[in-house]
Amino acid sequence: MTHSLIDSWHLAFVLDEVLGAETLFRLPVFADHDRASAWAVIETAARVARDEFLPSYRLLDDNEPRLENGRVVLPAEIESALAAFRDAGFTAMAARSEDGGLGLPRTFANAAFLQFQAANISIANYAMLSASAAELLARHGTEAQKASYMAPMLEGRFHGTMALSEPQAGSSLGDVTTTARPRPDGTYALRGTKMWISGAEHEMGQNIVHLMLARIEGAPPGVKGISLFIVPRKRLDADGRPSIWNNVALAGLNHKMGQRGTVNTVLNVGEGGETIGEIVGGPGQGLACMFTMMNEARIGVAMGAVAHASAGYRISLEYARERRQGRHPDARNPASAQVPLVQHADVRRMLLQQKAAAEGGITLALYLSRLADLKAAARTEPERRDAALLLDFLTPVFKAWISEECLGANYNAMQVLGGAGYTRDFPLEQHYRDNRLNPIHEGTNGIQAIDLAGRKATMADGRALELYCARLAATAAAAARNSDLHPLADQLVRLRTDLVVPSARKIADLTAAAGPRVALSRAHAFMELVGATTFCWIWLEQAHAALAGMRTSSEPSEPEAQRRQGLVVTARDVFARCVPRADAAAKTIAFDDLPFLEIADEMLG
Ligand SMILES: Cc1cc2nc3c(=O)[nH]c(=O)nc-3n(C[C@H](O)[C@H](O)[C@H](O)COP(=O)(O)OP(=O)(O)OC[C@H]3O[C@@H](n4cnc5c(N)ncnc54)[C@H](O)[C@@H]3O)c2cc1C
Repeated sequence: MTHSLIDSWHLAFVLDEVLGAETLFRLPVFADHDRASAWAVIETAARVARDEFLPSYRLLDDNEPRLENGRVVLPAEIESALAAFRDAGFTAMAARSEDGGLGLPRTFANAAFLQFQAANISIANYAMLSASAAELLARHGTEAQKASYMAPMLEGRFHGTMALSEPQAGSSLGDVTTTARPRPDGTYALRGTKMWISGAEHEMGQNIVHLMLARIEGAPPGVKGISLFIVPRKRLDADGRPSIWNNVALAGLNHKMGQRGTVNTVLNVGEGGETIGEIVGGPGQGLACMFTMMNEARIGVAMGAVAHASAGYRISLEYARERRQGRHPDARNPASAQVPLVQHADVRRMLLQQKAAAEGGITLALYLSRLADLKAAARTEPERRDAALLLDFLTPVFKAWISEECLGANYNAMQVLGGAGYTRDFPLEQHYRDNRLNPIHEGTNGIQAIDLAGRKATMADGRALELYCARLAATAAAAARNSDLHPLADQLVRLRTDLVVPSARKIADLTAAAGPRVALSRAHAFMELVGATTFCWIWLEQAHAALAGMRTSSEPSEPEAQRRQGLVVTARDVFARCVPRADAAAKTIAFDDLPFLEIADEMLG
C-alpha cells in the first residue's frame, strides 16, 4: 500500500472558499503571482514529494545517521531529494523577491510544503531549517551577511540550523552559557556546548550556517544578556567561499525514536581552536531576533504534525474500506458476509477524529500562514498590526493543541488497523513515532501553554484576545444564518462568552491576587479550553463555507456534494467531542483547589 499525501480537493476548498486566498494576489508584493501559478507550484510539490521524498520514508528510519571516521554518513537519498527540491525552485519559494526569492504568499508556499512534510518529514526538516534561517537573516542581517550567508541558503548551496539548546538550557533559554568573546576585528570567539541541534553536521552542500545563541562576556544574566551569532561550519575566505573548518566539533549523535533521517547532534564550539562568529542584530538582541525563526518553526512543527495526521488518515481509511471483519450488532445471521471495518461505529469514530485533526489542522495552518502574509504585506498599518497580534495569539495554540490532536490521530490510525497497525508492514507506527516529537521540540507544549496563558492572553492590553474573540463572533454570526449550523454557532458563542473570556479573567485575577505560580498552574487547562474552542471555530468556518459553496455552485456533482456534506458532519462531530472538553477545562480553571500544585515532593513517593 502506498500512502497518498495531502487531499487536493480539500486543499483547494480551503484556499479558495474558506480563506479566499486569491485576494492575496491583489496586494502589491504578491502581484507577480496568480492562482494558476501558485497552483502550479503546489502541484509540482505534490509530484516531487511523491517521486523524490516518499520512496525513502522507511529507508531513512531503518538507516539512521552514523559516524564513520569522525564524519556523519547519511543515506544518499536525502541529498538527492533535496537536490530535486532545490532544482524545482522550492528552496526560496516564500522568500521576498528583493532577497532573491520567488515571493510566493506563505499561504500557498506552506500548502506546497505540507506535501513534502507528509511524504518524508526527515528530509523536509533540512529544507525548513534552511528556509527559516534565511528568513531570519533577511529580517535581521546586514547586507553583507545576507550576501554571504542568506543568498547561498536560498540557492540551496548552504544549509541552516538553529543552535539554541544546551544541556542545562532547554525550555529555559535564559540559562544559555555558551560565551562569546569579542575579537579585535569585530567578530566573536564562541565557546560552549550545544545540545539537540538538528541538521548540524553532515557532508551535504557547501557549508552549514549555525544561528547560535551565546552570551557576550560580561553580559547580564537571563534573556537580556543573550546575543545571536552566525557561526559557519567552514569559515568564508575573502571571496565568500567556504574555506577552513571553524572548530564546530561534533561531540556526539542523538539516537531518536523517530524522524531519524534528520541528524541530531551535540556540538562543542571553541574547543581546540577558535570558533568565530558574527553577531546578528546587536548585543542582547539574540532572543528577539531568534523569535523570527522560532515562531516560524513553531508553525512548521505543527504543520509536520498535521502532515502526519493526514498521511495516517489516508492509509487507515483505505484499509478500513478493504478489510472485512465482524458484523453489525443487530445482524442475526452468523453466515452473513462480514462487513468492511469502515461500517463499524467505533471505527468511524476513529476515522472521523483523524479527518477532523488532518483537515482542521490544514485549515488552521493555512489560516495562520495567511495571517503571516497579512502581517508582512497588508495595505494599512492597523491591518498589519492586527494580523501580527492574532498570529501571535494563535501560534502556541496551533503548535500545542493541534500537535496533540494530530498525535492522537496517528494513535487512532494504528488502532483502526488492529494488529497490522502495530507491525512494520504499514508505515503507521513510523508516523506515530515521527509525530511524537512534535509536542516536545520547538518549546514543549507545557511551555506553549504558559506562553498562551501568561503572555498572549494579556498582550497589548488584551487586544490579541479581543481580536480572537471577534473572529469567533464573526464566524458564529455568519454561520447562524444557516439553520443547519445554527446550533453550532450558538455553542461557539457560549464557548467564547461563558468559558474563554471568564477563564482568561480568572487567570488574570489569580495572577494579581496569588501570583503567577498559582495562576499558571491553570495553563494546561487554558490551552485545552482555547484549543478546543479554536478547533470548533475553524470547523464551523469550514462547514459554513462548504454549505455556502453548495448553494452558489450551479449543480454540484454527487461526489462533490458528499465531500461538502462530509465537512458539515465532521464539524458536528468536532463540536460533540470538543465542547465537553472545553467545559471540563473551564471547570478546572475555576477550581480553587488544584491538588497537583499543593502536593509536596515527598508525597510523590
Ligand atoms: C529531536 C529533537 C530535535 C531538536 N532540535 C533542536 C534544534 O534544532 N535546535 C535547538 O536549539 N533545539 C532543538 N531541540 C531541543 C528542544 O527544543 C528541547 O528539547 C525542548 O525545548 C525541551 O528542552 P529539554 O529537552 O531540555 O527539556 P526540559 O526543559 O528539561 O523540560 C522537561 C519537561 O519539563 C517541563 N518544563 C521545563 N521547564 C518548565 C517550566 N518552567 N514550567 C513548566 N514546565 C516546565 C517541559 O515542558 C518538559 O515537559 C530538539 C529536541 C529534540 C528532542
